[in-house]
Amino acid sequence: MTSPSDLAARSRAAVWHPCTQMARLADVPPLPIARGDGPWLFGTDGRRYFDANSSWWVNLFGHSDKPLHDAIKHQLDTLPHVMLAGCTHEPAVRLAERLSARTGGALGHAFFGSDGASAVEIALKQSFHSFKNRGRPEKREFVCLKNSYHGETLGALSVTDVQVFRDAYDPLLMRAHIIASPDGRLGNEAEALEAMRVLLAERHDQIAAVIVEPLIQGAAGMVMYAPAYLKGLRELTHEFGVHLIADEIAVGCGRTGTFFAWEQTGADWPDFILLSKGITGGTLPLSLVLTTDDVFGAFWSEDVTRGFLHSHSYTGNPLACAAANAVLDRFDAGQLETNQAQAERLTRAFAPLAPRVAHLRQRGMILAFDVPQAPPRFAEAFQLKAREHELLIRPIGSTVYLMPPYLIDDATAAFLAQAVTATLNDVLA
Ligand SMILES: *Cc1c(COP(=O)(O)O)cnc(C)c1O
Repeated sequence: MTSPSDLAARSRAAVWHPCTQMARLADVPPLPIARGDGPWLFGTDGRRYFDANSSWWVNLFGHSDKPLHDAIKHQLDTLPHVMLAGCTHEPAVRLAERLSARTGGALGHAFFGSDGASAVEIALKQSFHSFKNRGRPEKREFVCLKNSYHGETLGALSVTDVQVFRDAYDPLLMRAHIIASPDGRLGNEAEALEAMRVLLAERHDQIAAVIVEPLIQGAAGMVMYAPAYLKGLRELTHEFGVHLIADEIAVGCGRTGTFFAWEQTGADWPDFILLSKGITGGTLPLSLVLTTDDVFGAFWSEDVTRGFLHSHSYTGNPLACAAANAVLDRFDAGQLETNQAQAERLTRAFAPLAPRVAHLRQRGMILAFDVPQAPPRFAEAFQLKAREHELLIRPIGSTVYLMPPYLIDDATAAFLAQAVTATLNDVLA
Protein backbone atom coordinates (compact mmCIF):
# COMPACT_ATOMS: atom_id res chain seq x y z
CA MET A 1 0.00 0.00 0.00
CA THR A 2 1.12 3.55 -0.72
CA SER A 3 1.92 5.60 2.37
CA PRO A 4 -0.15 8.75 2.84
CA SER A 5 2.78 11.07 2.23
CA ASP A 6 3.65 9.19 -0.96
CA LEU A 7 0.17 9.68 -2.31
CA ALA A 8 0.21 13.38 -1.41
CA ALA A 9 3.57 13.79 -3.14
CA ARG A 10 2.45 11.91 -6.26
CA SER A 11 -0.73 13.99 -6.30
CA ARG A 12 1.30 17.20 -6.10
CA ALA A 13 3.28 16.12 -9.12
CA ALA A 14 0.52 14.72 -11.33
CA VAL A 15 -2.79 16.27 -10.25
CA TRP A 16 -3.44 19.94 -10.74
CA HIS A 17 -5.70 20.60 -7.74
CA PRO A 18 -8.68 22.96 -8.03
CA CYS A 19 -8.84 26.24 -6.16
CA THR A 20 -5.28 25.70 -4.96
CA GLN A 21 -1.96 27.48 -5.21
CA MET A 22 0.11 24.40 -6.06
CA ALA A 23 3.25 25.98 -4.60
CA ARG A 24 1.58 25.91 -1.15
CA LEU A 25 0.88 22.18 -1.30
CA ALA A 26 4.19 21.24 0.28
CA ASP A 27 3.06 23.08 3.45
CA VAL A 28 -0.61 22.16 3.12
CA PRO A 29 -0.49 18.65 1.64
CA PRO A 30 -3.72 17.21 0.23
CA LEU A 31 -5.25 14.72 2.62
CA PRO A 32 -5.23 11.22 1.10
CA ILE A 33 -8.69 9.70 1.64
CA ALA A 34 -9.27 5.97 1.29
CA ARG A 35 -13.00 5.63 1.92
CA GLY A 36 -16.08 7.26 3.39
CA ASP A 37 -18.79 6.04 5.71
CA GLY A 38 -21.62 8.28 6.91
CA PRO A 39 -20.27 11.73 7.81
CA TRP A 40 -16.77 10.30 8.22
CA LEU A 41 -13.92 10.15 5.75
CA PHE A 42 -11.11 7.70 6.49
CA GLY A 43 -7.59 8.71 5.57
CA THR A 44 -4.97 6.33 4.21
CA ASP A 45 -3.25 7.20 7.51
CA GLY A 46 -5.95 5.19 9.30
CA ARG A 47 -7.42 8.32 10.91
CA ARG A 48 -10.97 9.58 10.51
CA TYR A 49 -12.22 13.06 9.61
CA PHE A 50 -15.71 14.50 9.90
CA ASP A 51 -16.77 15.90 6.51
CA ALA A 52 -18.05 19.21 7.90
CA ASN A 53 -18.52 20.83 4.48
CA SER A 54 -20.16 17.82 2.81
CA SER A 55 -17.25 17.58 0.34
CA TRP A 56 -17.86 21.01 -1.19
CA TRP A 57 -21.55 21.07 -0.32
CA VAL A 58 -22.61 18.03 -2.35
CA ASN A 59 -22.91 15.15 0.10
CA LEU A 60 -26.37 15.18 1.69
CA PHE A 61 -26.77 11.83 3.41
CA GLY A 62 -23.21 10.90 4.23
CA HIS A 63 -20.79 8.71 2.32
CA SER A 64 -21.66 5.18 1.19
CA ASP A 65 -25.38 5.77 1.58
CA LYS A 66 -26.97 2.41 0.75
CA PRO A 67 -30.25 3.49 -0.90
CA LEU A 68 -28.33 5.87 -3.15
CA HIS A 69 -25.73 3.28 -4.05
CA ASP A 70 -28.38 0.65 -4.72
CA ALA A 71 -30.24 3.00 -7.06
CA ILE A 72 -27.05 3.67 -9.02
CA LYS A 73 -26.06 -0.01 -9.14
CA HIS A 74 -29.51 -0.98 -10.41
CA GLN A 75 -29.29 1.71 -13.11
CA LEU A 76 -25.74 0.64 -13.98
CA ASP A 77 -26.97 -2.86 -14.77
CA THR A 78 -29.90 -1.51 -16.79
CA LEU A 79 -28.73 1.52 -18.78
CA PRO A 80 -25.66 3.54 -17.70
CA HIS A 81 -26.01 6.07 -20.49
CA VAL A 82 -27.83 7.00 -23.65
CA MET A 83 -27.89 10.35 -25.41
CA LEU A 84 -30.84 12.61 -24.65
CA ALA A 85 -31.03 14.04 -28.17
CA GLY A 86 -33.33 11.75 -30.14
CA CYS A 87 -33.76 9.35 -27.18
CA THR A 88 -35.31 9.54 -23.76
CA HIS A 89 -35.39 7.40 -20.63
CA GLU A 90 -37.43 6.86 -17.50
CA PRO A 91 -34.96 8.27 -14.90
CA ALA A 92 -34.72 11.67 -16.69
CA VAL A 93 -38.45 11.96 -17.33
CA ARG A 94 -39.32 10.94 -13.80
CA LEU A 95 -36.82 13.40 -12.31
CA ALA A 96 -38.12 16.28 -14.44
CA GLU A 97 -41.72 15.45 -13.50
CA ARG A 98 -40.95 15.24 -9.79
CA LEU A 99 -39.07 18.56 -9.72
CA SER A 100 -41.86 20.22 -11.67
CA ALA A 101 -44.34 18.88 -9.11
CA ARG A 102 -42.26 20.42 -6.33
CA THR A 103 -42.92 23.83 -7.93
CA GLY A 104 -46.63 23.09 -8.37
CA GLY A 105 -45.97 22.90 -12.12
CA ALA A 106 -44.77 26.53 -12.27
CA LEU A 107 -41.31 25.43 -13.49
CA GLY A 108 -42.42 22.51 -15.59
CA HIS A 109 -39.53 22.23 -18.08
CA ALA A 110 -36.18 20.77 -17.06
CA PHE A 111 -32.99 21.16 -19.09
CA PHE A 112 -30.12 18.93 -17.99
CA GLY A 113 -26.48 19.99 -17.56
CA SER A 114 -23.42 18.35 -16.09
CA ASP A 115 -22.38 20.70 -13.29
CA GLY A 116 -23.34 23.95 -11.65
CA ALA A 117 -21.46 26.26 -13.99
CA SER A 118 -23.04 24.64 -17.05
CA ALA A 119 -26.50 25.20 -15.51
CA VAL A 120 -25.66 28.90 -15.15
CA GLU A 121 -24.50 29.08 -18.78
CA ILE A 122 -27.71 27.38 -19.91
CA ALA A 123 -29.98 29.75 -17.97
CA LEU A 124 -28.18 32.86 -19.25
CA LYS A 125 -28.42 31.60 -22.84
CA GLN A 126 -32.08 30.60 -22.47
CA SER A 127 -33.01 33.95 -21.03
CA PHE A 128 -31.28 35.91 -23.79
CA HIS A 129 -32.52 33.61 -26.57
CA SER A 130 -36.11 33.66 -25.35
CA PHE A 131 -36.17 37.46 -25.54
CA LYS A 132 -34.47 37.34 -28.96
CA ASN A 133 -37.09 34.91 -30.26
CA ARG A 134 -39.73 37.37 -29.11
CA GLY A 135 -38.16 40.22 -31.07
CA ARG A 136 -36.15 41.74 -28.20
CA PRO A 137 -32.51 40.89 -29.16
CA GLU A 138 -31.28 44.04 -27.39
CA LYS A 139 -32.12 42.45 -24.02
CA ARG A 140 -28.70 40.87 -23.60
CA GLU A 141 -27.30 42.23 -20.35
CA PHE A 142 -27.21 40.43 -17.00
CA VAL A 143 -27.26 41.58 -13.41
CA CYS A 144 -25.63 39.86 -10.46
CA LEU A 145 -25.08 40.85 -6.85
CA LYS A 146 -21.91 42.08 -5.24
CA ASN A 147 -19.88 39.11 -3.88
CA SER A 148 -22.04 36.67 -5.84
CA TYR A 149 -20.73 33.28 -6.91
CA HIS A 150 -22.20 31.41 -9.87
CA GLY A 151 -19.31 29.26 -11.10
CA GLU A 152 -16.08 29.64 -13.01
CA THR A 153 -16.60 29.02 -16.71
CA LEU A 154 -16.42 32.29 -18.63
CA GLY A 155 -20.17 32.99 -18.77
CA ALA A 156 -20.72 32.02 -15.14
CA LEU A 157 -17.63 33.93 -14.05
CA SER A 158 -19.03 37.02 -15.77
CA VAL A 159 -21.85 37.03 -13.20
CA THR A 160 -19.53 36.16 -10.31
CA ASP A 161 -18.05 38.85 -8.08
CA VAL A 162 -15.54 37.00 -5.96
CA GLN A 163 -12.27 38.76 -6.70
CA VAL A 164 -9.93 35.87 -6.17
CA PHE A 165 -11.70 33.79 -8.84
CA ARG A 166 -12.43 36.63 -11.19
CA ASP A 167 -9.60 39.12 -11.37
CA ALA A 168 -7.12 37.15 -13.49
CA TYR A 169 -9.74 36.46 -16.17
CA ASP A 170 -11.52 39.80 -16.11
CA PRO A 171 -10.39 40.81 -19.61
CA LEU A 172 -12.14 37.73 -21.03
CA LEU A 173 -15.51 38.30 -19.39
CA MET A 174 -18.87 39.69 -20.49
CA ARG A 175 -19.69 42.95 -18.75
CA ALA A 176 -22.45 42.32 -16.21
CA HIS A 177 -24.05 44.82 -13.85
CA ILE A 178 -22.86 44.18 -10.30
CA ILE A 179 -25.32 45.61 -7.80
CA ALA A 180 -25.28 46.06 -4.00
CA SER A 181 -26.11 42.81 -2.22
CA PRO A 182 -28.24 42.29 0.89
CA ASP A 183 -26.36 41.24 4.02
CA GLY A 184 -28.22 40.38 7.23
CA ARG A 185 -25.17 41.48 9.26
CA LEU A 186 -25.69 45.01 7.94
CA GLY A 187 -29.48 44.86 7.74
CA ASN A 188 -29.27 46.63 4.37
CA GLU A 189 -31.90 44.62 2.46
CA ALA A 190 -34.04 47.70 1.70
CA GLU A 191 -31.12 49.74 0.35
CA ALA A 192 -29.92 46.84 -1.78
CA LEU A 193 -33.39 46.54 -3.27
CA GLU A 194 -33.46 50.26 -3.97
CA ALA A 195 -30.13 50.02 -5.85
CA MET A 196 -31.67 47.26 -7.97
CA ARG A 197 -34.73 49.38 -8.67
CA VAL A 198 -32.57 52.26 -9.89
CA LEU A 199 -30.66 50.00 -12.28
CA LEU A 200 -33.72 48.18 -13.63
CA ALA A 201 -35.63 51.43 -14.10
CA GLU A 202 -32.78 52.73 -16.24
CA ARG A 203 -31.66 49.64 -18.19
CA HIS A 204 -34.59 47.18 -18.31
CA ASP A 205 -34.77 47.45 -22.11
CA GLN A 206 -31.24 46.04 -22.31
CA ILE A 207 -31.38 43.61 -19.37
CA ALA A 208 -32.40 39.98 -19.85
CA ALA A 209 -32.04 38.60 -16.32
CA VAL A 210 -30.99 39.07 -12.73
CA ILE A 211 -29.24 36.09 -11.13
CA VAL A 212 -29.15 35.55 -7.35
CA GLU A 213 -28.22 33.00 -4.72
CA PRO A 214 -31.45 32.83 -2.66
CA LEU A 215 -31.09 33.45 1.11
CA ILE A 216 -27.34 32.78 1.33
CA GLN A 217 -24.38 33.96 -0.72
CA GLY A 218 -22.26 30.88 -0.15
CA ALA A 219 -18.80 31.52 -1.56
CA ALA A 220 -18.93 35.12 -0.28
CA GLY A 221 -18.62 33.58 3.20
CA MET A 222 -22.13 32.29 4.00
CA VAL A 223 -23.68 35.75 3.89
CA MET A 224 -27.31 35.34 4.97
CA TYR A 225 -30.10 37.80 4.28
CA ALA A 226 -33.84 38.22 4.78
CA PRO A 227 -36.31 36.44 2.45
CA ALA A 228 -38.15 39.77 2.12
CA TYR A 229 -35.35 40.92 -0.22
CA LEU A 230 -36.22 38.14 -2.65
CA LYS A 231 -39.92 38.93 -2.51
CA GLY A 232 -39.11 42.54 -3.35
CA LEU A 233 -36.74 41.45 -6.11
CA ARG A 234 -39.41 39.25 -7.68
CA GLU A 235 -41.79 42.22 -7.71
CA LEU A 236 -39.15 44.45 -9.32
CA THR A 237 -38.31 41.91 -12.04
CA HIS A 238 -42.04 41.55 -12.83
CA GLU A 239 -42.46 45.31 -12.92
CA PHE A 240 -39.57 45.80 -15.34
CA GLY A 241 -40.02 42.67 -17.51
CA VAL A 242 -36.71 41.08 -16.55
CA HIS A 243 -36.12 37.38 -15.84
CA LEU A 244 -35.13 36.22 -12.38
CA ILE A 245 -32.72 33.28 -12.11
CA ALA A 246 -32.56 31.61 -8.68
CA ASP A 247 -29.25 29.79 -8.40
CA GLU A 248 -30.09 27.08 -5.85
CA ILE A 249 -27.02 25.01 -6.68
CA ALA A 250 -25.80 25.35 -3.09
CA VAL A 251 -28.98 26.21 -1.16
CA GLY A 252 -31.41 23.78 -2.81
CA CYS A 253 -32.21 20.20 -1.78
CA GLY A 254 -33.32 20.97 1.75
CA ARG A 255 -30.16 22.77 2.84
CA THR A 256 -31.95 25.85 4.19
CA GLY A 257 -35.02 24.14 5.67
CA THR A 258 -37.29 23.88 2.62
CA PHE A 259 -36.58 21.83 -0.52
CA PHE A 260 -36.07 25.00 -2.56
CA ALA A 261 -34.79 27.97 -0.56
CA TRP A 262 -37.19 30.03 -2.67
CA GLU A 263 -40.17 28.48 -0.84
CA GLN A 264 -39.33 30.69 2.16
CA THR A 265 -39.89 33.93 0.24
CA GLY A 266 -43.68 33.78 -0.07
CA ALA A 267 -43.15 35.25 -3.55
CA ASP A 268 -44.12 33.98 -7.02
CA TRP A 269 -41.70 31.43 -8.43
CA PRO A 270 -38.68 32.81 -10.28
CA ASP A 271 -38.33 32.29 -14.06
CA PHE A 272 -35.47 29.83 -13.56
CA ILE A 273 -34.26 27.62 -10.74
CA LEU A 274 -30.85 25.94 -10.98
CA LEU A 275 -29.97 22.78 -9.10
CA SER A 276 -26.75 20.80 -8.88
CA LYS A 277 -24.37 19.85 -6.03
CA GLY A 278 -26.72 18.03 -3.60
CA ILE A 279 -29.17 16.81 -6.22
CA THR A 280 -27.29 13.49 -6.55
CA GLY A 281 -26.31 13.39 -2.87
CA GLY A 282 -22.63 13.72 -3.72
CA THR A 283 -22.40 10.69 -5.98
CA LEU A 284 -22.38 11.87 -9.61
CA PRO A 285 -22.22 15.19 -11.47
CA LEU A 286 -25.57 16.53 -12.65
CA SER A 287 -27.32 19.86 -12.93
CA LEU A 288 -30.78 21.02 -13.89
CA VAL A 289 -32.27 24.24 -15.18
CA LEU A 290 -35.97 24.43 -14.40
CA THR A 291 -38.04 27.02 -16.23
CA THR A 292 -41.56 28.20 -17.02
CA ASP A 293 -44.06 27.65 -19.82
CA ASP A 294 -43.41 31.25 -20.82
CA VAL A 295 -39.66 30.82 -21.41
CA PHE A 296 -40.17 27.39 -22.97
CA GLY A 297 -42.88 28.74 -25.24
CA ALA A 298 -40.54 31.36 -26.71
CA PHE A 299 -38.59 28.55 -28.42
CA TRP A 300 -41.63 26.70 -29.81
CA SER A 301 -41.35 26.82 -33.61
CA GLU A 302 -40.85 24.79 -36.79
CA ASP A 303 -37.56 26.68 -37.19
CA VAL A 304 -34.52 24.82 -35.82
CA THR A 305 -32.55 27.99 -35.15
CA ARG A 306 -35.28 29.23 -32.82
CA GLY A 307 -34.82 26.11 -30.69
CA PHE A 308 -32.50 26.04 -27.72
CA LEU A 309 -29.26 24.78 -29.22
CA HIS A 310 -27.14 23.58 -26.36
CA SER A 311 -25.83 20.15 -25.52
CA HIS A 312 -23.39 18.31 -23.30
CA SER A 313 -22.26 14.76 -24.07
CA TYR A 314 -23.55 13.39 -20.78
CA THR A 315 -26.76 15.43 -20.72
CA GLY A 316 -29.38 13.67 -18.60
CA ASN A 317 -27.05 10.80 -17.71
CA PRO A 318 -29.29 7.96 -16.43
CA LEU A 319 -26.96 7.01 -13.55
CA ALA A 320 -26.98 10.58 -12.24
CA CYS A 321 -30.75 10.84 -12.75
CA ALA A 322 -31.27 7.57 -10.86
CA ALA A 323 -29.20 8.99 -7.99
CA ALA A 324 -31.25 12.21 -8.04
CA ASN A 325 -34.49 10.24 -7.96
CA ALA A 326 -33.19 8.38 -4.91
CA VAL A 327 -32.42 11.75 -3.30
CA LEU A 328 -36.00 12.90 -3.98
CA ASP A 329 -37.30 9.66 -2.42
CA ARG A 330 -35.73 10.82 0.86
CA PHE A 331 -37.53 14.15 0.70
CA ASP A 332 -40.81 12.39 -0.13
CA ALA A 333 -40.22 10.33 3.02
CA GLY A 334 -39.92 13.32 5.37
CA GLN A 335 -36.27 14.44 5.20
CA LEU A 336 -37.21 18.09 5.84
CA GLU A 337 -38.75 17.31 9.23
CA THR A 338 -35.65 15.35 10.19
CA ASN A 339 -33.47 18.25 9.06
CA GLN A 340 -35.34 20.67 11.29
CA ALA A 341 -34.53 18.62 14.37
CA GLN A 342 -30.91 18.32 13.21
CA ALA A 343 -30.62 22.08 12.67
CA GLU A 344 -31.91 22.69 16.20
CA ARG A 345 -29.22 20.39 17.58
CA LEU A 346 -26.58 22.47 15.83
CA THR A 347 -28.10 25.68 17.20
CA ARG A 348 -27.96 24.38 20.77
CA ALA A 349 -24.47 22.92 20.49
CA PHE A 350 -22.91 26.10 19.05
CA ALA A 351 -24.74 28.65 21.23
CA PRO A 352 -21.94 28.72 23.85
CA LEU A 353 -19.51 29.90 21.17
CA ALA A 354 -21.49 33.09 20.47
CA PRO A 355 -19.69 35.40 22.94
CA ARG A 356 -16.28 34.53 21.44
CA VAL A 357 -17.09 35.06 17.76
CA ALA A 358 -18.94 37.55 15.58
CA HIS A 359 -22.26 37.04 13.79
CA LEU A 360 -22.95 33.46 14.71
CA ARG A 361 -25.70 32.73 12.19
CA GLN A 362 -27.63 29.80 10.86
CA ARG A 363 -30.24 28.92 8.31
CA GLY A 364 -31.28 25.30 8.33
CA MET A 365 -28.24 23.10 7.87
CA ILE A 366 -25.73 25.91 7.36
CA LEU A 367 -24.08 27.44 10.41
CA ALA A 368 -21.39 30.13 10.21
CA PHE A 369 -19.52 32.67 12.28
CA ASP A 370 -16.83 35.27 11.70
CA VAL A 371 -13.57 35.37 13.65
CA PRO A 372 -12.63 38.91 14.68
CA GLN A 373 -8.96 39.80 14.31
CA ALA A 374 -8.16 36.56 12.54
CA PRO A 375 -4.41 36.14 12.03
CA PRO A 376 -2.91 36.08 8.51
CA ARG A 377 -3.54 32.81 6.64
CA PHE A 378 -6.26 32.01 9.16
CA ALA A 379 -8.24 29.74 6.82
CA GLU A 380 -5.19 27.62 5.99
CA ALA A 381 -4.11 27.37 9.64
CA PHE A 382 -7.63 26.46 10.74
CA GLN A 383 -7.96 23.79 8.08
CA LEU A 384 -4.66 22.17 9.11
CA LYS A 385 -5.28 22.34 12.87
CA ALA A 386 -8.79 20.96 12.44
CA ARG A 387 -7.34 17.74 11.05
CA GLU A 388 -5.82 17.10 14.48
CA HIS A 389 -9.35 17.27 15.88
CA GLU A 390 -10.81 14.81 13.34
CA LEU A 391 -12.43 17.59 11.37
CA LEU A 392 -12.30 18.30 7.65
CA ILE A 393 -13.29 21.95 7.23
CA ARG A 394 -12.28 24.87 4.99
CA PRO A 395 -13.06 28.37 6.26
CA ILE A 396 -13.65 31.16 3.73
CA GLY A 397 -11.35 33.98 4.78
CA SER A 398 -12.14 34.57 8.45
CA THR A 399 -15.56 32.92 8.23
CA VAL A 400 -15.82 29.43 9.68
CA TYR A 401 -18.85 27.49 8.49
CA LEU A 402 -20.44 24.09 8.72
CA MET A 403 -22.53 22.61 5.96
CA PRO A 404 -22.61 19.02 7.19
CA PRO A 405 -24.35 15.94 5.82
CA TYR A 406 -27.90 15.51 7.11
CA LEU A 407 -26.73 13.12 9.84
CA ILE A 408 -26.61 15.29 12.95
CA ASP A 409 -27.60 13.49 16.14
CA ASP A 410 -26.89 14.88 19.63
CA ALA A 411 -23.48 13.24 19.89
CA THR A 412 -22.45 14.50 16.46
CA ALA A 413 -23.56 18.06 17.21
CA ALA A 414 -21.60 17.97 20.48
CA PHE A 415 -18.53 16.58 18.71
CA LEU A 416 -18.66 19.32 16.06
CA ALA A 417 -18.96 22.13 18.61
CA GLN A 418 -16.11 20.68 20.65
CA ALA A 419 -13.84 20.12 17.62
CA VAL A 420 -14.49 23.60 16.18
CA THR A 421 -13.91 25.25 19.58
CA ALA A 422 -10.70 23.28 20.16
CA THR A 423 -9.43 24.20 16.70
CA LEU A 424 -10.25 27.85 17.29
CA ASN A 425 -8.38 27.76 20.60
CA ASP A 426 -5.31 26.28 18.91
CA VAL A 427 -5.31 28.70 15.99
CA LEU A 428 -5.83 31.81 18.12
CA ALA A 429 -3.36 30.70 20.83
C1 LIG B 1 -20.86 25.61 -6.65
C2 LIG B 1 -21.73 26.66 -7.20
C3 LIG B 1 -21.83 26.89 -8.59
C4 LIG B 1 -20.98 26.18 -9.59
O1 LIG B 1 -21.16 24.79 -9.58
P1 LIG B 1 -19.99 23.85 -10.14
O2 LIG B 1 -20.57 22.48 -10.14
O3 LIG B 1 -18.85 23.99 -9.18
O4 LIG B 1 -19.65 24.34 -11.49
C5 LIG B 1 -22.71 27.85 -9.02
N1 LIG B 1 -23.47 28.54 -8.15
C6 LIG B 1 -23.42 28.34 -6.82
C7 LIG B 1 -24.30 29.13 -5.93
C8 LIG B 1 -22.54 27.40 -6.31
O5 LIG B 1 -22.44 27.25 -4.98
